[in-house]
Amino acid sequence: MSGLSDTFVSTLDRMAKWASAESMWPLSCGLSCCAIEMMHAAASRVDLDRFGCLFRASPRHADLLIVAGTVTKKMLPQLITLYDQMLDPKYVIAMGSCAISGGLFAESDTVVCNLGNYMPISAVVYGCPPRPEELASAILELQAQVRLK
Ligand code: SF4
Repeated sequence: MSGLSDTFVSTLDRMAKWASAESMWPLSCGLSCCAIEMMHAAASRVDLDRFGCLFRASPRHADLLIVAGTVTKKMLPQLITLYDQMLDPKYVIAMGSCAISGGLFAESDTVVCNLGNYMPISAVVYGCPPRPEELASAILELQAQVRLK
C-alpha cells in the first residue's frame, strides 16, 4: 500500500513540476533598452507563447521576473516589491549585461551592479543587447531545470 501511495505522490509531484515548467508566466516589466528585445521575444518571430510563457500585468499572476535592462538604485526598491509580490515558486532571469553586472554603467553611482544580492537569479542572458532568441533559450533551460527539480 505504501508503494502505491509513494507512486501516487511521486506522480503528482512530477505533474506539478511539469505544469509549473510549462506555464511560466513572466511579469510585464521592462527597465531599459533590453525590454525592447524582451518584447520582441514575445512577438510573432520568437513567439514565447508557444512555450507557455504568457506575459502578465500583475505580479500576483506571474512566477517569472525578467529583469530586462539597467537597474538603477532608484528603481531597485520597486523591483524588490514586485518580486516579493510574485507567486512561489518564482524565478528571475537577468537579461543583458546591465542587469547582470551594471554593463556600460558599472562605474555609475546610480546603477545596481550586484542584483544577485537582492534576489536569487535563476538564469542569465548575456549580451548588449541580448538577442530575443537567447532569452527564449534561457527560458527553455529554466523550464528543463524546473522539470528535473
Ligand atoms: S545591456 Fe545594453 S541593451 Fe541592455 S539595457 Fe544595458 S545598454 Fe541597453
